[in-house]
Amino acid sequence: MRIFLNPFPEDDPKQALRLRRFFMGLGTYFLWLFLIIYCHILDFIRLAPRETALIYGFFLFINLVFYLLIRTGANKRFSDPSMTLAQMVTGTIAAMTIIYFTDRIRALMLFIYFVTFIFGTFRFNIRQYLAFALFALCSYGLVVLLLFYNYPATVEPKIEILQFIIFGAVIFWFSFICSYISNLRSRISTANRELTDALQTIETIAIRDDLTGVYNRRHMFTEIQRGKSIADRTGMPIAIVIFDLDHFKWANDAFGHQKGDHILKQLVHEIKRELRETDIIARYGGEEFLVIMFDADIDGAKECGERIRKRAESIRYAGFSDTFRVTISIGITMYRPAESIDKMIHRADNALYRAKANGRNRTEVELPESEYVNKKS
Ligand code: GH3
Ligand code: MG
Ligand code: MG
Repeated sequence: MRIFLNPFPEDDPKQALRLRRFFMGLGTYFLWLFLIIYCHILDFIRLAPRETALIYGFFLFINLVFYLLIRTGANKRFSDPSMTLAQMVTGTIAAMTIIYFTDRIRALMLFIYFVTFIFGTFRFNIRQYLAFALFALCSYGLVVLLLFYNYPATVEPKIEILQFIIFGAVIFWFSFICSYISNLRSRISTANRELTDALQTIETIAIRDDLTGVYNRRHMFTEIQRGKSIADRTGMPIAIVIFDLDHFKWANDAFGHQKGDHILKQLVHEIKRELRETDIIARYGGEEFLVIMFDADIDGAKECGERIRKRAESIRYAGFSDTFRVTISIGITMYRPAESIDKMIHRADNALYRAKANGRNRTEVELPESEYVNKKS
C-alpha cells in the first residue's frame, strides 16, 4: 500500500528520476485520452466508447506493471533499468492501435505520436533511435496495410503513401536530432559526475592529511575555532589531547622512511578506533597528532589518553618482529573560556614535553591556572 501512497522512493534518486519520467509518459497517455474522447464526440473513431475504454484500460494496466516494476526495484535487474525501450514500444503499439481505428484524421494522430517518440532522448543513441524509428514506421505500415485489407473504403492509396513517406522522413530526421540531444545530455551528465568527483577529491585534499587520512593542521584549527565559539557561548567543555610518537626518529633511521610511514598510518588507524564519533583527530605536525574532544571533562580526557596510550603500545606492525612496539607520549589540557587557541595548545604542548621528560609512554596533564576551567556539569 505504501508504494501507492508514496509514489517516489526517497532514498534512491535514480529510481525517483525513472519514476518521474514514467509519470511524464503516463501524462502523455492521458493527453491522448482527452483527444480521443474529443474525436469520439466528433465521431472520427470507428469504435464504441466501451471498446476504446477497454483498449485504453489494457495499456494503462501495462503501465501499472511498469510502475510496480520500478517502484519495487525489480527493474534494477534489467540491462536497462529505466525500461525506455519497453515503454516506448508500448506507447507506439498503443498509438498505432488507436490510429488503426481512426478515419480521415490519421495524419493528425501521427502528429500526437511524436510526443512518445521524444522520450527516447532520455536514453537512445543514434543507432537505437534509427532502429526504433524503423520499428515505428513498420508499425504504421502494418496499420495502413491492415486498413487496406479490412476497410478499403477508408484508404486512399495516394494520400496514404504520401503520409507514410512524410511520417518516415520526419521520424528519421527526429531520430538524428533527438539522438544528438541525447548524446549532449549524456556528455553533460558524465562531465557533471566527473566534476562532482573532482570537487570531492579537492575537498578531501583540502582538509585531510594524505598519509594518514585524518584531518590536516588547517582543518584542525577550523574545528577548534568552531568548538571555541560554541564553548564561549554555552560553556561546553573541550579537552585537547596531543600525542607524539616516542623515538620515532630512531625507527625511521633503523627501518627506513617508508616503513616509518607505514607505522604512522597503522598507528593512527588503530587509535582512531578508540575515539568517539564526535572526537576530531588531526595531524598537528610530523609525528604529532591532536585530538579535540567536545563536551568532555578532564576525567574523560585522561581516560581517553590512557586508552590510546595502551592501545598504541599493544599494536603489532606488519613486517616487523613480534616484539617491536611504538609507544606514544601524551599531553592533555582543557580549554579555558575566552582564552586564545594558541595558549591552549601551548599548555597541551607543555604537558607533552613533561611526559617526554618524565620517561615517555605516559600521560601528563596541564590545566589552566584559573578556576574558570570549564567542567562538564
Ligand atoms: P621523541 O620521543 O622525543 O619524540 O623522539 P622522536 O625521535 O620521535 O622525535 P623527533 O621530533 O626528534 O623526531 C620526529 C621524527 O619523526 C623525525 C622525522 O623523521 C619523523 N617524521 C615526521 N614526519 C614523518 C613522516 O611523515 N613519515 C616518517 N616516516 N617519519 C616522519
Ligand atoms: Mg616523537
Ligand atoms: Mg615530534
